[in-house]
Amino acid sequence: MSSKTDFRTLCVHAGELKDTQHGGAISPLYASTSYSFTDVKIGQYPRYFNTPNQRGLSEKIAALEGAEAGMIFGSGMAAISTALLSHLKAGDHVVFQDDLYGGTRNFIKHEFPKYGIEFSFTKGLNPENFSDEIKSNTQGIYIETPSNPTLKIIDLKAVAALAKSAGLWTMIDNTFASPVNQNPIALGIDIVLHSATKYLGGHSDICAGAVLGTKECIDRVFSSAKNFGGSLSDYTVWLLERSVKTLYIRVQAQNQNAQQIAEFLEHADWVDHVFYPGLKSHPDHALAKAQMQGFGGMLSFNLGTQVDSKKFLLSLALIKPTMSLAGIESTALSPHLTSHALLTEAERLAQGITPQMIRFSTGIEAVEDIKADLFQAYKKAIK
Ligand SMILES: *Cc1c(COP(=O)(O)O)cnc(C)c1O
Repeated sequence: MSSKTDFRTLCVHAGELKDTQHGGAISPLYASTSYSFTDVKIGQYPRYFNTPNQRGLSEKIAALEGAEAGMIFGSGMAAISTALLSHLKAGDHVVFQDDLYGGTRNFIKHEFPKYGIEFSFTKGLNPENFSDEIKSNTQGIYIETPSNPTLKIIDLKAVAALAKSAGLWTMIDNTFASPVNQNPIALGIDIVLHSATKYLGGHSDICAGAVLGTKECIDRVFSSAKNFGGSLSDYTVWLLERSVKTLYIRVQAQNQNAQQIAEFLEHADWVDHVFYPGLKSHPDHALAKAQMQGFGGMLSFNLGTQVDSKKFLLSLALIKPTMSLAGIESTALSPHLTSHALLTEAERLAQGITPQMIRFSTGIEAVEDIKADLFQAYKKAIK
């Protein structure tokens, strides 16, 4: 890689706006919602996703995913719902992987029937589980890897090849990996989605989303997006650009901490099981190593039966028991009580989610402090 296209350099500089008026070092913020119509071909307007800051940040995130083009949305769900609906019509069918982010699952189950769009969930995460669900009216395959919260890995090259041979599009929710650890377009996936609320934002203070793909695909998303109107305020676009500049160093620190915490928990006799693709014991470790540049900051673990899981979460002092993930501060939650609470008990168990499971989002604190906090919380939570 030449230094011009090095990922770290792209994080800082891709898509930046020049301050030609004052020579400032950073992108100016253009908050205007009204632009002259006399000398601009297509009207510039925030809901047309084409203000200077929106275009700059779209270019930056597209560069990080190796995509031709991109769009920034007001939330991850705005990005996901718009990408899906722009590619579907009544009578179409989509194959979704089984372990899916709860909000996406709710969107499909609640909205698709109203529009006459059919869907199936796979019965496993192997490529053959996806081909099993393809029907004559199937248009595309939608995946998420590593999966939430059990960190299973899907073979991206195999699923992309399978979809291409069947003439289907592929979409991936790449939120958990972040563009630092996984670039699905290079592996043959068509459309990459992000909840920028997570790693791209990284400080738990921004709600945003992104869609990346070919120019043709983004044009198609745009044709629906301008009608749905899920654009992001330029103030937040500007703040998100600042966040993405430090994406690489944040995620590297999170990767390193997560690996050490996973190894620490794997050797703790008060933990029954650790789910982390960076562990040699993870069933998909070799696949993760082949298709990811890093194993990510997310991990899950099952507390031993001698530990009260609720008390464990409430006894954490440094680690915050909060929803959401990917901030620079470590957080933990119970998928059973929060992210997956809307599933039935049977659906949860089918995905391997028990009340003893803790999902952990690794921050950039000193790893010894994180380990010490986990250990003292365990001591307090022994039944
Ligand atoms: C949070 C999240 C979303 C939804 O994003 P919002 O910004 O909350 O709308 C989608 N997918 C994954 C994997 C997420 O973690």
